Amino acid sequence: MAIASKLNHEGVRVYCICGDGELQEGQIWEAAMTSSHYKLDNLCLIVDNNNLQIDGNVNEVMSIYPLDEKFKSFGFEVITIDGHNMEKIIQAFEKAKTVKGKPTVIIAKTIKGKGVSFMENLASWHGKAPKEEEYNTAIKELSKK
Ligand SMILES: [Mg+2]
Repeated sequence: MAIASKLNHEGVRVYCICGDGELQEGQIWEAAMTSSHYKLDNLCLIVDNNNLQIDGNVNEVMSIYPLDEKFKSFGFEVITIDGHNMEKIIQAFEKAKTVKGKPTVIIAKTIKGKGVSFMENLASWHGKAPKEEEYNTAIKELSKK
């Protein structure tokens, strides 16, 4: 989509969100290499960097670090932020729009399940739904914030 927008002079910006566990997949890095080769400054990748994936801690399953250095070596502008701070998120998107000649990655440092006491930092919540009582507790806790 980003390449097509460039070729057609559409001026469209493309946003892509990846989990950190996804970054263990080869096709991600093929796309990253392609993005910088074609100078896709209309592409902004956001990485949800909670350091957890379905099988556990990203570091233990297969480390992706140092993530900032990897993306820099692939030709990206790298912005690292607190992914829970809306002001920082908006600033990062604004900065990404000013980058010319290369794609941008926003590495958003996050906490899986943030704000829900029994879900925070637990990979076991990666792919399961809460029971009704758990759901009600989670909504109550999130409403206090
Ligand atoms: Mg993750």
